[in-house]
Amino acid sequence: MRQELAIDWNEPPLRTNEKRPVPRPIVLASHPGNAGAGNRRIAWGSADGHARGAVVATLNAGPSRNAIGTHSGAYSVYRALAVAAGQLAAGHQPDLTNTSPAVRIGPFPQWSKPDAIVSLDPWGHLSTELFADRIAAGVDVRPSIAVTRAHINMPEIADAVRAGRLRPDGTVLDAAGNVRVTKIAIEPVWHLPGVARRFGIAVSDLRRGLFEQTGGMFPELVTRPDLDVFLPPIGGMTVYLFGDPAGLGRPETRIACRIHDECNGSDVFGSDICTCRPYLAHGIEVCIETAQMGGIGVVVYNRKEGRALGEVTKFLVYNARKRQEGGDRADAYFQRTECVAGVQDMRFQELMPDVLHWLGITRIDQLVSMSNMKFAPIVASGIEVVERIAIPDALIPADASVEMDAKKAAGYYTDAVPPPEVLHEAKGRPLDE
Ligand SMILES: [Zn+2]
Repeated sequence: MRQELAIDWNEPPLRTNEKRPVPRPIVLASHPGNAGAGNRRIAWGSADGHARGAVVATLNAGPSRNAIGTHSGAYSVYRALAVAAGQLAAGHQPDLTNTSPAVRIGPFPQWSKPDAIVSLDPWGHLSTELFADRIAAGVDVRPSIAVTRAHINMPEIADAVRAGRLRPDGTVLDAAGNVRVTKIAIEPVWHLPGVARRFGIAVSDLRRGLFEQTGGMFPELVTRPDLDVFLPPIGGMTVYLFGDPAGLGRPETRIACRIHDECNGSDVFGSDICTCRPYLAHGIEVCIETAQMGGIGVVVYNRKEGRALGEVTKFLVYNARKRQEGGDRADAYFQRTECVAGVQDMRFQELMPDVLHWLGITRIDQLVSMSNMKFAPIVASGIEVVERIAIPDALIPADASVEMDAKKAAGYYTDAVPPPEVLHEAKGRPLDE
């Protein structure tokens, strides 16, 4: 049954030169028999990409659409704005000529291991190859993963070369500090039954929560139980690979890994209240060393700003920490976050190991992280961690010692837990300095 809403397209424009979209009915996708009718069900977890089927999440795919939500994560809202503003044709179909992966990734056995990967599409970079027939037939199938090559250059790496910690080899690292990498952008694609199982909740509760807490943004979550793949409007991740990606999926390949959650203030602007950028730079240094020894370095950069609470919450917490009685101190660090956000953390690291399984990783020789919240789910997902690498003390900015002490006291990986009197001491800079 086709559901349409009547809209008065004859209402007068606000401005005389206003562009108006071509009048068209609003098509509700939330009823069986409309979008999704005749679609091909996604056989999530199938070992054969073609048999698994395309995730068709484009809004102009009509009856071929078989997923809830659409591509580009949070940027889908900008696309909606571009269409509303008359700057982008709603039915625009991309020309994907020459966009295929610069490097072959997979397939690996984990791609078809039940529930090993539930928050990204393991075949998402191969869409144009696997589903060329459907694209040729006019179905708008898009990649959710893009793989390219790049050179990166960070002052910390050039410093490491000058200090003699890193040696240019002309392949991974040159004398000017340029580092050759493979970089991979990944959009979130959630298999809802798998995500629910990962959290030990009913899929109906997951669907209802996602529907209600987004202000009813995706009605199909509750009206279309036959659609079990959802592209959420959230940030994705970028993977930086150091060394030859051909070594992925081979147990003999040595792997160094840093899982890094976005911290714009530190990562980009060098803000000194936390250790994010110094730890990231240290992780990259370890990755370069590993690549130079014939292994692979993996940096996963997740768009989960401020423990996925967002930057507004984060900055509110900074103020609360620095203004509290007794000053900014480690023993009140997590409490201040919980007061503002209701939780200490919203990153849900339960989903984080998916990307490691996608890369065919079964063992991490060096995990450049002190966080038990990252270590525990990686190990629980079946990946062995041989060694954990802490951030060298010399890289910790003075104002970040509050965070570092609080994390050590909370059980982060360390060989020296600070005593209570140290945690109670105000160590952070006051707000007005
Ligand atoms: Zn930070």
